[in-house]
Amino acid sequence: MADTLHDGAALDFPVLCGYLGPAMAIELDLSHRAPAAPTGAGPANLLGLGREGLRAAMIAAGVEEKKARMRAGQLWRWMYHYGVGDFSGMTDVAKEMRAKLGEHFYLARPAINAAQASVDGTRKWLVGYGPNVEAECVYIPDVGKAGALCVSSQVGCTLTCTFCHTGTQTLVRNLSAAEIVGQVMIARDALGEWPTSNENRLLTNIVFMGMGEPLYNLDNVVEAIDTIADGDGISISKRRITVSTAGVAPKIPELGKRTGAMLAISLHATNDDLRNELVPINRKYNLKELFDAIRAYPDLSNSKRVTFEYVMLKGVNDTLAEARDLVKLLKHVPAKINLIPFNPWPGAKYECSDWETIEAFAEVLNRAGYASPIRTPRGRDILAACGQLRSESVKERASERLARRLAEKEGSAP
Ligand code: SAH
Repeated sequence: MADTLHDGAALDFPVLCGYLGPAMAIELDLSHRAPAAPTGAGPANLLGLGREGLRAAMIAAGVEEKKARMRAGQLWRWMYHYGVGDFSGMTDVAKEMRAKLGEHFYLARPAINAAQASVDGTRKWLVGYGPNVEAECVYIPDVGKAGALCVSSQVGCTLTCTFCHTGTQTLVRNLSAAEIVGQVMIARDALGEWPTSNENRLLTNIVFMGMGEPLYNLDNVVEAIDTIADGDGISISKRRITVSTAGVAPKIPELGKRTGAMLAISLHATNDDLRNELVPINRKYNLKELFDAIRAYPDLSNSKRVTFEYVMLKGVNDTLAEARDLVKLLKHVPAKINLIPFNPWPGAKYECSDWETIEAFAEVLNRAGYASPIRTPRGRDILAACGQLRSESVKERASERLARRLAEKEGSAP
């Protein structure tokens, strides 16, 4: 996803999903891409692990328990502050220790299976996590403080929002915390942002608006946020991390309590009938339950507002009466609004509202005190805009999985 708000002060979120891009996109040279992680038994990948995971790995490799935290701390800084990809450059770790680490572990980014750059500076990566498991992430410049990375939390999605391209791809699987962190590291590599500096960074914000429903993978999203926000490493503050949900109401307050991240809600309709159709999870958690949950999100205030996303669909949800209903609905919630012009994809049954309609809708919101709520689509030429992300991954059938595992064991896997 890659759309930008006109309001410089508000967060402009990129939104992933996949539509196919025309020829303007520039294909990038991938000859230096990171190797895919080895499969099967043998050394384990430490990249992307959280503090606890790293400490446990040290102990499993025979590091004394009382030294494990210190060792994990050293590794942490090399991995997440300096961004190193092997143990040899870890100069404050004794040579023997480095050799020992090398026997048990390796540090590998996920594979980059494709990389594209838009004429507007948006960049998209198709990240590979194993056979037929791919997700996209998108970097959008001039969003948030300097630029935002839109990350995926799942491969595919269980939700079937009728206007979303990702919604046509069934769920393959949840991404682990390490796999989510890997997306951030890939973007940092590409932007040349190691070691982590506090000034003039290009990647300043993270939005969980890529593929998947983050609140259906909450434990891993929480762990990934902890790693990304850690001040001794990647150091992107929680106030610059936004998690977007289609409305998994019971998990919304929990997200706030466990992460302190910013909340975004994919609203798209102001009454239950229409929302049931556009965002079918509304049949499970209706608008009343959703807003009760939002009001229970911790620490909301004028400086910590909920972002409401509203996709503009021609003749479906774009009347001025609906704009007024939206204002009423948000009355007691510290809120900002992102009107997202609908991004088309092959086979979609909707059209984007006319520009005059979007402006008239925005004008009602402006008059109610919501500044510049229209989000400019970004990265449309590489299908990196809101709702355009999709990968070709499909869930392996159990029989296929078994056959692949057997083949891998026998060393005959491709
Ligand atoms: N599942 C989460 C995270 C995905 S965020 C959620 O629904 O919030 C992706 C954002 O892009 C959501 O606001 C989604 O509603 C919006 N979106 C999806 N398809 C779109 C499209 N074709 N055009 C514009 N926005 C779209």
